[in-house]
Formats: sequence, C-alpha cells, structure tokens
Amino acid sequence: MAAPTFSSLLHRDLGLTAVADGRKRLRPEEGLALLKEAPLPALGRLASAAAERIHGDRLRTYVIDRNINYTNVCTAACTFCAFKRNLNDADAYVLGEAAIHAKVQELVDIGGNQVLLQGGMHPDLPLGFYTGMLSGLKKAFPQVHLHAFSPPEFVEFVAVLEVDGFPTARPGRGETLGRGAWLAKLEAVMRELMAAGLDSLPGGGGEIFGPHVRHRIGPGKASGAQWLDVMETAHRVGMRTSATMMFGHLEGRMDRIQHMDAVRSRQDRAIEADLPGRYLSFISWPYQRENTPLDRLPDHDPLAEKRGGEPFPGDVLAEAVARGEVDPEDRAACRRVAPGAGKVLRTAGGTEYLRTQAVSRLYLDNIHSIGSSWVTMGPRIGQLGLLYGANDMGSVMMEENVVSAAGTTYCLNEATLCRLVRDAGFVPAQRNNRYEVLQEHPDTPDAPDRRIDDWSTQRPRAQRAAFEPGVKAEAKDGPATVPLTVTAGHVQAAPALA
Ligand code: SF4
Repeated sequence: MAAPTFSSLLHRDLGLTAVADGRKRLRPEEGLALLKEAPLPALGRLASAAAERIHGDRLRTYVIDRNINYTNVCTAACTFCAFKRNLNDADAYVLGEAAIHAKVQELVDIGGNQVLLQGGMHPDLPLGFYTGMLSGLKKAFPQVHLHAFSPPEFVEFVAVLEVDGFPTARPGRGETLGRGAWLAKLEAVMRELMAAGLDSLPGGGGEIFGPHVRHRIGPGKASGAQWLDVMETAHRVGMRTSATMMFGHLEGRMDRIQHMDAVRSRQDRAIEADLPGRYLSFISWPYQRENTPLDRLPDHDPLAEKRGGEPFPGDVLAEAVARGEVDPEDRAACRRVAPGAGKVLRTAGGTEYLRTQAVSRLYLDNIHSIGSSWVTMGPRIGQLGLLYGANDMGSVMMEENVVSAAGTTYCLNEATLCRLVRDAGFVPAQRNNRYEVLQEHPDTPDAPDRRIDDWSTQRPRAQRAAFEPGVKAEAKDGPATVPLTVTAGHVQAAPALA
C-alpha cells in the first residue's frame, strides 16, 4: 500500500479532523506523513484544536521551579553533551547540602514550588548521598515538590549502588545483573528514594530510543528499553513522570515517530493495567550543537535533497527499521542498509521544531500535557509553540547548566513568561507538578506582567554555564561540602538531559 500523503490523510483515508477531535488515532506511517509534508499552518491548526479539546482555549500554564544539577560527574559519553566531566577533571563537582539548600531557599523566596534534581551518572556516590539529599530537602522545605533523577541516573543506581540483598555491577553494565535482579533492584532503590522524599521522575535522557541512533549519541548511557522500564516501574510504584525527546541530530523522522509511539504504547499499558502512576507530559527540543563532539560531523543539505540529491541517511535507516527490514541492534546490517547513517547531521530549526511539537500533540493522544521548549528555541518560538499544540510553557527556573553548556539558553522571569502567554491570546496560570492550576493571572494590575513598568529591564538574556576552575568533587561517603560552582546571576531554565 502506498504511503499516505497529507492531502489523502486530510480528505479521504483518515480525516485529520477526527484525529484532532480525539476520535481517531494516528498510525506511525500517518504520523510520518504529517511530519514530512503537512503544511505548517495546517499542522498548527490541527494541533491547536487537539490542545483546546484537552485544555480549553483560555488558560496556558507554567511552573516556578529550579533545576539543580547536583553533579556534573558522569560515566556516560554522550556525543551531544558538553556538560559532563570525568571524576578527576579539575572542574568536576558535587554540590553539598548547604549549597543545594541555599538554591532551594532562593526558589522558595520567589514563590517556587518544585525543584528538579538531576546529575550526571556519578559512579561513586552511595545511596545515603541521595536519600540524605532528599530527606534533608523534605525536612527543610516540606512544601517543595521533589522531581528528581531521570531514568539514566536510575540505571546507574541499579548498577553501582550497594543495596542489601542485591549485587552490583560496573558503571554502565547494570544489564549484567540479569533482568530479574535488575528490575527488583530498580524497584527497591526507587522505593528507598520515595521513602526519603522523592515525589516524581523527570523524563530526561530520552533523546531518541532507537538503538541504531542511541548507540552513536549515548555510549555508556541507558538504552531506550531501560529508559522505558524505569518509567514503567515508577508508574507501578505510584509516581507521575514526564517523557522527553531530543531530535535534530542523526535520527530519521520515522525515529521520532517510533519514539512517540513507544511512549504512547507504554502509557496505554499503564492505563490498561490501572497503574497508580502515568506519564503526565511530553516535551521535545532540538539538539544544541556547540561544544559537543557531535558538532564535528558535516551537515546534511536539505535543499540538495529537495533537488533530487541523496536522501538523509538517517531517514533511510529509520524507515528500513520501521518496516522490519533490518535489526536496529545489528550495526553491520544497519551500515549495509544506510552506509552514511550516523556520519552526517541534520539539525532542526524553528519550523522543524514547531512541526515536530505539533505532531507530538496529535500523536500522543493519551498524554495530558505538551510543553513548549522556549529554553532552547528562544522566547518567540516558545510563544509560537502555544499555537502548535503546546499548553504549557514549562518552568520559570532559576538555573540551567546542561543545555547551556552546549549553546545558548534563554533567561525569562515570571513576568516575561506571563506576557508571552498573554500576547499569544491566553491567560497565564501558575500550575503545580500535577498540572493543577494554582493561580490564574487575568489581565489585572496585580498580574506579574502588569507590575512591570519598564520592559527594557526585562529583555531576555542568553546564558551559558560557567564553572569555577579548580573545584573538585569531594563527596564519596555522604553529603558533600563543595561550594557552588555555577556563577552567580545564572538565572534560568530548561530541559536537562541526563
Ligand atoms: S547527557 Fe547526561 S548522561 Fe549523557 S554524558 Fe551528559 S550528563 Fe552524562
């Protein structure tokens, strides 16, 4: 059967209006057709209709939280990452309790209600470091929601942490424990961390699940299957989680669809099994290339492809994998099918970002929230994201170190976020981690954006991480006492990667 086209989807085969209405579900090849050829304005209208069906047409939300990267030490070697350090690097760090508490106090002082704790995958910190960090924060700040430890960190916990009754493995080799022991230890560690104060899991480290892409971008990091298993365990023990996707590097467009399909399928399973936890949100963003090893690859030329040149090899491989013609774990077979795959980059700009986000809203019919990634795309594209299926502007965070190490991230305060939402035609509203509205901000004089007299003082500023030289990691046996390593005034936000 011929692959569907946008017009056939719209007018005959499926009826995209039915998809936007929630009466029909997209199949992978239909998602791919939308991603490849739907006119962007039409895609925006459909994704907006889907967002309005789920969230209404009045409010669009944001959260006030803070991203704290408690360590930059990591045993993985992601080729898109400029944040990680090796254990003995001069600028490796582990934040101590005093430093972390000082950051959370700053968050509380501006009305924040959530902290996102993520690190690299540190090989030496004991379980007591993590439980101590959580319980110390819960004791000092009981009102703050602790959203912490993305799946790759959990995968490393299972490998290296010493837990009574369970074996350990070398960093990055947790699978050598055997699947049964791996899953049992994962759940045991998760329950320990929950008992210490963990409230929910962030979806960092999703990138692209397909192993034919992942082995090139994330050596030493959790596999896509492990990432999904961590989240399923979190759902089983009663935690809410988010899902992410980082695209615009080596992957084909079908890899993005397959990634969304994996999230949708696992959410179906959680719903069918009536698990107490679920995915609440999905956020995607394009790879940021500066200072990363992947940046050394040549760029694909999409214009030459349009004029009849070679197709992007990532697309060739992704579609062959989706058709079942090649085992994505068989590297030699993948090379035979698409010799150039993994050797050329196809980065994503603003329109490709909006296109992908809009398709995610239409494809992920069982996921409540779609977040706009203004942190990497900038405030203008982030604002436009609200017209391409996003219902949430994410966080007014106070710090971001991971994406900013690979290029520019943007710094917006609550007033500016409110103004972006309002200028897009919605009423801004602060939410909590469960997407419950805490406070609406109609256009009245006490709204955060209405209290600004001089907008020239509120211009968005690009920020980059800046680490103090010579700061060494010192935490081996408990909470560390290493000073803050991020320069003062580093004010803002983002999806972290680990
Ligand atoms: S992206 Fe995360 S897991 Fe990968 S190297 Fe960087 S810090 Fe480590």
